[in-house]
Amino acid sequence: MHLTADALLERVRTRLPGVSLGTIYRTVDILREIGLVQIFTHNGMAARYEASLSKHHHLVCDVCSDITNVNVPSLAPVMHAIAAQYHYDDIDASLTVTGRCVNCAAQADHAGDRAEPVERALETAAARE
Ligand SMILES: [Zn+2]
Ligand SMILES: [Zn+2]
Repeated sequence: MHLTADALLERVRTRLPGVSLGTIYRTVDILREIGLVQIFTHNGMAARYEASLSKHHHLVCDVCSDITNVNVPSLAPVMHAIAAQYHYDDIDASLTVTGRCVNCAAQADHAGDRAEPVERALETAAARE
């Protein structure tokens, strides 16, 4: 689960109504420092917090901003090869794959169905000329 600070606040407030957004930020900062929370940001999107899992990468839908955790074992050799070439140490790499999720693709297909009569009308009109 990847929650924004606002979403975290909403959840915490169901139990502790007096909690402020500032408290949420201070708490996740501490949890991040001790390695219990990971932060994920992409392309100006609001930062998302998640419980610290093992190293993973992200698949992000450009349409609905849905985020999926993915494992990319083949990234490690690539990262090490680049580091070796440029003599970097202490390396890390994060991969974010973007695209359109299955739900959004399905919705776009339905939108296509609705557009079809218009296309057919245009074709008919063109055939008449
Ligand atoms: Zn989507
Ligand atoms: Zn994640």
